[in-house]
Amino acid sequence: MASPGRRMLGDLIRPHAPSLVLLLVGSFVGSLVEAFFLVGMTGIAMGIATGTDTVSLGATTDGVLPPLSINAWLVLGVALLGVRLLLATGNAWLEARTTAAILTRQRRRVTWGYLDADWATQQQEASGKLQGVIGFASSTNAVVNNVLGIATAGLSLTAFIAASLLIDVASTGVVALGLVLLGSAMIPLRRWIRRRAQIRAKSALAFTESIGELGSMGLEMHSFGVRGRFKQAVDRLSTRDARHGRAVDTLSLVVSPIYVSMAYGAALAGVALAQGVSNLDATVLGAVMLLMLRSLSYGQQVQTQSVSLASNWPRLEQVDTNVRRYEANRASGGEAVPPTEMPLALEHVSYAYTPDRTALKDVSLEVRRGDSIGIVGPSGSGKSTLIQLILGLRNPTAGVVAVAGVDLREVDRSWWTSHMALVPQDPVLFTGTVVENIRFFRDGISDEDVERSARQANVLDEILALPQGFNTHLGQGGSQLSGGQRQRLSIARALAGSPRILVMDEPTSALDGRSEALVKEALAALTGEVTIIMIAHRVSTLDQCTRILVVEDGRITTDAPAAEALASSAYYRRMRGLGGDLAASPSLQGEATHG
Ligand code: ADP
Repeated sequence: MASPGRRMLGDLIRPHAPSLVLLLVGSFVGSLVEAFFLVGMTGIAMGIATGTDTVSLGATTDGVLPPLSINAWLVLGVALLGVRLLLATGNAWLEARTTAAILTRQRRRVTWGYLDADWATQQQEASGKLQGVIGFASSTNAVVNNVLGIATAGLSLTAFIAASLLIDVASTGVVALGLVLLGSAMIPLRRWIRRRAQIRAKSALAFTESIGELGSMGLEMHSFGVRGRFKQAVDRLSTRDARHGRAVDTLSLVVSPIYVSMAYGAALAGVALAQGVSNLDATVLGAVMLLMLRSLSYGQQVQTQSVSLASNWPRLEQVDTNVRRYEANRASGGEAVPPTEMPLALEHVSYAYTPDRTALKDVSLEVRRGDSIGIVGPSGSGKSTLIQLILGLRNPTAGVVAVAGVDLREVDRSWWTSHMALVPQDPVLFTGTVVENIRFFRDGISDEDVERSARQANVLDEILALPQGFNTHLGQGGSQLSGGQRQRLSIARALAGSPRILVMDEPTSALDGRSEALVKEALAALTGEVTIIMIAHRVSTLDQCTRILVVEDGRITTDAPAAEALASSAYYRRMRGLGGDLAASPSLQGEATHG
């Protein structure tokens, strides 16, 4: 069976087969042309040296080519040069075009693979990993170039040996044999380089991952004064990566001189043997020498390209491994379209991140239209996991999440995402205008929707006060807005698609008093209209909720109207500052400071 890397390379190259065949044919013909040019050159030189007008080359009496005058050779030489130049230019164009197309496809494969992967896979990915894999995807071109280099140099070598055989069999045979032996002698070295390169590929990926993580920790790094430690850590990783790189590079660089020295030795032996075995004339010997030396340089190209391939190959394998992991974890979703978005039910749902880590245990719940649910519970009790299951970002390990009786796994994702919206705890704004951030790539959202949702989220006045209103550029991460404005913009983003269900992770956590009041006002206006499910850390947020879910240790311990929850949950009582039995809820102690 083909190795994973080979299969990936095969898939990438196959669509370009016609171009590549053309390229190889061009290269073979180009080398034949070059070989005959060199033969002609020798003929001319010998003709001039011996004072003869006509030149004939080859072991037969008539020569490979009919005897030609020096002038005819000169004209032919110019023509051959022209043809070779034309072929080389065509080949260069074809190669560049093909490799550019292959690179584009490979990058698409990585990025689309990642984008199509489910949330659980994406979330697990270390920051910087994707960049690392994309960087490696660019090395695919190096691999393709190496493979083409080996093929074209190999074909050129064949063309030269063929031309040389026509002129003299014995000496060509010796040199060809020498080349084969040399090629075999290099195999263990190439294997060694490949093994080192595999280690290097891993260390390079680890390095990019760490740098990616660094990029997202600027604030903590400064505030904890640990820049020095970060520098040391980066240095350590970088030195390790460089050490692996050094070994691969040294070996790769040394291959060429080793090969050349050995190859010249083989050429020398060939010539000596030719002198002993056949009775060659000076012209034929000169032509064979020239062809052989040029063959050796093509042989050298085959070697250097093979070594370079050995060192680039592990990157291709890394890309392949990661892409296949993404592809094995595609976001699921069916084609079913339920009649309505309600009721939304969880039936005996459990979810385990790992076999020994069950975050939700046998949870059952029915969300009804117009509910305004506040989910409370200690940190780590499973609240986020619960909303991720409702959003369909994760599939239950056991049990079913059903929308109007249809298993959410069977439901068409775009239908579901058009009915619900999420306001995350730390909304991310991207570099773009206000309107682009609210619309968030959803083409069906009109300017009126954007304005309406901004009004609903109580952020319209502040947007209109910006220098260019909705068309104001926000800069990276929306840095020119306050936390409260960012949060309300994110609520506007969620409301722009007129969702039937709004899922929020503590919508007021990052807010100043004024923003909090504005968000609460916005939510109050939505209550009853839109079904709201929100994780609440703040007591004030809970005022909005008509129904309370208390999640403790992966289970729903209370599901009751807000007023009744006080009576049935010690945790909730405690949260509302009304006292409660701490012993009944030990994890609460850690949570008491949370909101
Ligand atoms: P909450 O939102 O209530 O703080 P979570 O739903 O985030 O709780 O987490 C519930 C449990 O699942 C915790 O024990 C947490 O450590 C674990 N958990 C959460 N996310 C992951 C993850 N990506 N991988 C492994 N375990 C996780």
